[in-house]
Amino acid sequence: MRAEADEDTGVAVVGGGLVGCSLALALARRGQRPVLIEATPEGPVAPPSFDERNLALARASLDALAMLGVLEGLDRPPEPITQIHVSRAGDLGSVRLDAAEHGVAAFGGVVMARDLGKALSRAVSAEAAISRRSGTAVTAIEPVAQGWRLHLATTNGDRSSLRCRLLVAADGSDSRLRGWLGIDEEVHDYGQHLVVCSIEAAGARRGQAWERFSATGPVALLPRNDGRWGAVCGVATAEAGAVMALDDAAYAEYLQSRFGWRAGRLSRPGRRVAYPLRLRVARRVHAERAVLVGNAAQTLHPVGAQGFNLGLRDALGLAEAVAGAEDPGVPQRLAAYLRSREEDRRRTLAFSDGLARLTASENVAARALRSLGLLALGVSRRARAPLVHAAMGLTGMPEAWRGEAS
Ligand SMILES: Cc1cc2nc3c(=O)[nH]c(=O)nc-3n(C[C@H](O)[C@H](O)[C@H](O)COP(=O)(O)OP(=O)(O)OC[C@H]3O[C@@H](n4cnc5c(N)ncnc54)[C@H](O)[C@@H]3O)c2cc1C
Repeated sequence: MRAEADEDTGVAVVGGGLVGCSLALALARRGQRPVLIEATPEGPVAPPSFDERNLALARASLDALAMLGVLEGLDRPPEPITQIHVSRAGDLGSVRLDAAEHGVAAFGGVVMARDLGKALSRAVSAEAAISRRSGTAVTAIEPVAQGWRLHLATTNGDRSSLRCRLLVAADGSDSRLRGWLGIDEEVHDYGQHLVVCSIEAAGARRGQAWERFSATGPVALLPRNDGRWGAVCGVATAEAGAVMALDDAAYAEYLQSRFGWRAGRLSRPGRRVAYPLRLRVARRVHAERAVLVGNAAQTLHPVGAQGFNLGLRDALGLAEAVAGAEDPGVPQRLAAYLRSREEDRRRTLAFSDGLARLTASENVAARALRSLGLLALGVSRRARAPLVHAAMGLTGMPEAWRGEAS
């Protein structure tokens, strides 16, 4: 064991997941020299969320990631989403969104979290203004004059501490920092697990995505850049174990029975992973000289594909608010950040949670409302505009990070 003297920094970002890495890059572009602290060591084992989940990234998010120099580091470019088909088992109507009809080449694109994580990691390594501490966990925090002291422990058992003027918790859904900062969270258990895998779809066309809702949860197919489809399937928590235990052929049949034949025969599912679905929302996203971003601030139902898209906008908004600041933790800067993010966060949470609950409900009024909604959206291009806007992630993207999409 070795003890080291306190070091000083402006911004300390705790958590080098998808949002923490994006934030460190954006801060560096805005004149800060952040320290990025990630518990997982660099090497063959990646941070936990750099896994096989397929991320649907809104067009505006892709533009911002391109500006951050991340997209060019992907081994394969994101697979464009050119059409989205939305329906609900047992309801009338369906909606088909076509990018060409809205004057754009694609609504967004799909990348595997593992690939995006790798590209973010490469971009962070190439950025001299970021000091990355991998294999280092924050084990405690204490308030000091004009900032925080972080206690750090490496996987080798080395201990040290670091002082910062602004502490950013990007440490994910189970954020320990959130608790240490005395911030409570609201939790809603959807009573579902989401089973994720890749699959072959014999009748699917490139660029096509489907979202089909049902009382037991959504089923979606997303186009991937390896010619397969990313399948997500919501199942009641009580049945998740049995569904995960099915062999591959039986699971393909199960998925087909839930999804139907819109994309032809589904076969050859890849490795399955099941995620419990809970909405977790921090009651506030700041404390003195501290901010929560990404999943530490809000963990959403993946049904609306908003989690990382929103976390990225948090990160970019924070980088704007502290741009060029000598002391990035002063109350005026934090207040500007909170003001700039309030509306987007409120709307995205309402959209995502509302979609998850309304589409799952078998209540007669909810069914009628949905059928009417789907029918109206099906016939009117104008009615579809807000949905298209959400799919492209335009709302809430800070001005400075808007690219071709806006
Ligand atoms: C099945 C599924 C599908 C999804 N699909 C989409 C989608 O299509 N579109 C979309 O936008 N979003 C999607 N999401 C959401 C998205 O994956 C998350 O919003 C995103 O990963 C959150 O990133 P984060 O950096 O906030 O947290 P995380 O990725 O969880 O990162 C937190 C990091 O903090 C580190 N850490 C924790 N504690 C400490 C500590 N004490 N010290 C140091 N480091 C620490 C961890 O090791 C980890 O690397 C999906 C999620 C799921 C589960």
